[in-house]
Amino acid sequence: MKIKFSIKELRAMNCNHKSPKQISPRLLNPSNYLVRYNGYITCRDRNILNQHASGVLWFTGLSASGKSTIAHGVEKKLFSRGIRSYVLDGDNVRHGINSDLGFSLQDRKENVRRIVEISKLLMDAGFIVLASFISPSMKDRDFVRSCFSEDNFYEIYIKCSIEECERRDPKGMYDKARRGIIKNYTGISAPYEEPESPDLVIDTEQLNIEDAIQGVVNFIDAVKMLKLI
Ligand code: ADP
Repeated sequence: MKIKFSIKELRAMNCNHKSPKQISPRLLNPSNYLVRYNGYITCRDRNILNQHASGVLWFTGLSASGKSTIAHGVEKKLFSRGIRSYVLDGDNVRHGINSDLGFSLQDRKENVRRIVEISKLLMDAGFIVLASFISPSMKDRDFVRSCFSEDNFYEIYIKCSIEECERRDPKGMYDKARRGIIKNYTGISAPYEEPESPDLVIDTEQLNIEDAIQGVVNFIDAVKMLKLI
């Protein structure tokens, strides 16, 4: 099947043809018709309305290291200061938008890609995104970092030994992983690659919960993450 297009239509599809041509159905991919719509209100407008910049804090660490506890504690503190933030949490996302994904390498990669896209939307909407995900692969985390600019993305390593995480085991997952009921469990039967140069390390074996949360808030203030440029 061959279909004729006018120059105007070809331009709209980003085709560099000088005259109308016969083009193959391959070019009829719907993505060729997608053109970004720029609204009246920009991210900066929203930031000005909120009186703070937006950005992403990416919490990585073993399950039970304390990512969610700390992220939600930080959200509470920011909320009390009138700062718009939102926690994106591994299990919640997997219950909803990523409920079709498992834990194979391919699915973990897709899980991260979608979370990045959600984070970008929330950031554009004016939020400080507190993304709490084990994100065990260094390659995946490098990909995440590459999706954001330097001044609005920070990686926070929530550090805790596997022994202590197993001792805490708030959801009984390590127990199930040890007994082989859960396969591919990070730290037990799947690897966790420690971050080599995170922007902040919070060691939850050294700090109590309150100090760990305050440590992140102090960091946000120290790097002027909320400052409007
Ligand atoms: P993750 O999100 O990393 O899987 P959670 O926040 O769900 O971890 O669970 C961490 C568990 O460890 C919670 O039960 C929390 O009360 C406990 N905990 C003990 N000490 C700390 C600490 N210093 N920081 C964070 N959590 C801690």
